[in-house]
Amino acid sequence: MISSKRVSEVMETIDRALFVPDGTPAYVDSPMAIGYNATISAPHMHATCLQLLEENLKSGMHVLDVGSGTGYLTACFALMVGPQGRAVGVEHIQELADSSIKNIKKSAAAPLLKEGSLSIHVGDGRQGWPEFAPYDAIHVGAAAPEIPQPLLDQLKPGGRMVIPVGKMFQDLKVIDKNEDGSISVRSETPVRYVPLTSRGAQLRGC
Ligand code: SAH
Repeated sequence: MISSKRVSEVMETIDRALFVPDGTPAYVDSPMAIGYNATISAPHMHATCLQLLEENLKSGMHVLDVGSGTGYLTACFALMVGPQGRAVGVEHIQELADSSIKNIKKSAAAPLLKEGSLSIHVGDGRQGWPEFAPYDAIHVGAAAPEIPQPLLDQLKPGGRMVIPVGKMFQDLKVIDKNEDGSISVRSETPVRYVPLTSRGAQLRGC
């Protein structure tokens, strides 16, 4: 299922066991609850997204991870873009952002966090994170009813965004911004993610 050697190496280097709550099986291929009505995505979804973005995760590139949750995927991104690159996670639940930083500090991505090429921020990811834009790659880890315009604006020409779009029924969309600024969109696969929403709506569970 993982056809990319680079992706499988990164997923082996960042140990998922450091990112799931204590007592949660780390290597079972399904999503797991992490509190606050959020989940860590299944390993096969992490692998799919890393592979879809691989060409836009070369050394020195900038990547934005919206809804960074446990920080697992942000840590994988940071390893791929390396110390010359920028991996930026945005999460709107303070407690999840705090625990993701603790998780990353135990992982192979710890030096990148320390040196500053990897950072986690608390905020509404629907607004992106303009400070380090434009991005070569944008990953959205929660399902949006429609593609947020600020994320399209923060995508570099030649950049790629992977985002689940829909409400009950969602598709993982692959969005390429062409060099002339036009956008190409295709659907990769049907998926089921938690919603990209406001903090209040998420905590109320709707
Ligand atoms: N890739 C993460 C997925 C976590 S689930 C992982 O595998 O660990 C989706 C995350 O999106 C949750 O942590 C949720 O709190 C967050 N989220 C939902 N809406 C958001 C928003 N508007 N801004 C920032 N984060 C959001």
